[in-house]
Amino acid sequence: MSRFIFITGGVVSSLGKGLGSAALGALLQARGYTVRLCKLDPYLNVDPGTMSPFQHGEVFVTDDGAETDLDLGHYERFTGVHANKDDSVSSGRIFTNVLEKERRGDYLGATVQVIPHVTNEIKDFILDKDGSADFILCEIGGTVGDIESLPFLESIRQAGNTLGRERALYIHTTLLPYIPAAGELKTKPTQHSVKELMSVGIRPRILLCRSDREIPEDELRKISLFCNIDEEKVIPALDVKTIYEVPLSYHAAGLDTQVLDCFGLESKEEPDLSNWEYIVDRVKDPEGEVTIAVVGKYTNLADSYKSLNEALTHGGIANNAKVNIKFVEASIFDEENPQDHLQGVDGILVPGGFGARGSEGKIKAAQFARENKVPYFGICFGLQMAVLEAARNLAGITDATSTEFAEDGEDVQGTPLVGLMTEWMKGNELEARGETCDLGGTMRLGSYPAKLEAGSKAAAAYGSIDVEERHRHRYEVNMNFRAQLEEHGLKFSGVSPDGSLPEICEHVDHPWFVGVQYHPELKSKPLDPHPLFVSFIEAAIKQSRLV
Ligand code: GLN
Repeated sequence: MSRFIFITGGVVSSLGKGLGSAALGALLQARGYTVRLCKLDPYLNVDPGTMSPFQHGEVFVTDDGAETDLDLGHYERFTGVHANKDDSVSSGRIFTNVLEKERRGDYLGATVQVIPHVTNEIKDFILDKDGSADFILCEIGGTVGDIESLPFLESIRQAGNTLGRERALYIHTTLLPYIPAAGELKTKPTQHSVKELMSVGIRPRILLCRSDREIPEDELRKISLFCNIDEEKVIPALDVKTIYEVPLSYHAAGLDTQVLDCFGLESKEEPDLSNWEYIVDRVKDPEGEVTIAVVGKYTNLADSYKSLNEALTHGGIANNAKVNIKFVEASIFDEENPQDHLQGVDGILVPGGFGARGSEGKIKAAQFARENKVPYFGICFGLQMAVLEAARNLAGITDATSTEFAEDGEDVQGTPLVGLMTEWMKGNELEARGETCDLGGTMRLGSYPAKLEAGSKAAAAYGSIDVEERHRHRYEVNMNFRAQLEEHGLKFSGVSPDGSLPEICEHVDHPWFVGVQYHPELKSKPLDPHPLFVSFIEAAIKQSRLV
């Protein structure tokens, strides 16, 4: 039977609760336990699929096609355990389920209320796990004190009663701000935040105190006293240079030891964390460095490309090189010359994206990479734009376009090489969509198999011709143009098993020009870097030696 660890946050948002949960997961694994992580988000969107990346950061897609919070990406990267749709839920989803049940008459005429109907729905989500993991780490999004998080806090309080003290633990993450005028770290916000949590009936047994500097013993003692928490369970969680240092740093501060202590579990032996030490060494002290231009749209918010940034770092770790990312706003090429921004970079990456804005700039970036033989990695939209570039500039289809760019209700202006997917196979089932479908959940989502051509760059990178990768897109390159494009050197080196959908294309006459219709960055991990990122960074290193 699983034990549950509930992780809340107080004082401010962005405390790195997700990272902390992921790091604790990795530490428990290093102690020989199995873990599963899940996230409860208080917002009212049913899932983050339709939320702007500017506001919410990246949408992380699971193998089974759920569009989830980017924290699930941290969980997977740190623990290697693949998440699924039962690992993430929002208030929107919970309320939808409750209202659907109400409409079906499941509540037998009862007045439907937050307690018990909403809280029961949340508790079912938390407790209905198969129990095979030793620990289930459950992170509550938002900050204690928010109106939205109340039903979640009430539910984890009740769940704690059901589970009992031996199977439930509450960890609260807080912040100790440094006040320069006083020259001191302040503990008062932490005290208030614990008080707030206690007012809803939750008594944390471990505090993770985030701070940008060493916390004096006196202050830790003070927190212990005021918050009624054992001294050794007030854990300093200091800022570190790289996120991959978090497991090491939290271990040194005693987090995993104290967690096991709360459950009455022995922790005689020190866990082997040499794999994390290796990663941190490589990140901190690499031999070489390369610069990759990421030509995208949401370039002013690093969180919107979270997994991508990490995957590039992983590619760097594998090649013992630091990867500098130069974000370039694609629409700048509407006015300025790509040469001025891309000259001298060692690789160009066009990531996933949506909509017409910036698309011409991305096409120009692909053209620059192809003509100047700079390594190019096109991901999803980045593949689609590379295909349009080849169609226009090599195959003579000068008006090649995507149906995605047609104005609302208007016919497409040009030859649509990239078109709206209306049907495709998912396993043995036919999935069908229409132009008028809702935006939420109408994409080809989740893991699909692809067959690669032996001898292609992609197959060489993977060391296999059978791969499974995660998708998130609504449009697809029309395979009727395959022969025409291949005649001009853009080969489709990976397709769906039935051959109907493109998965990978590459320019044969180029050192490294690969586009993929899926999102390889979602499966990359520091301890298991994605082969395409490893190969791309390797090509970029070669390129850097040329210039
Ligand atoms: N906008 C494109 C589509 O829907 C690409 C999506 C993406 O890059 N994830 O097909």
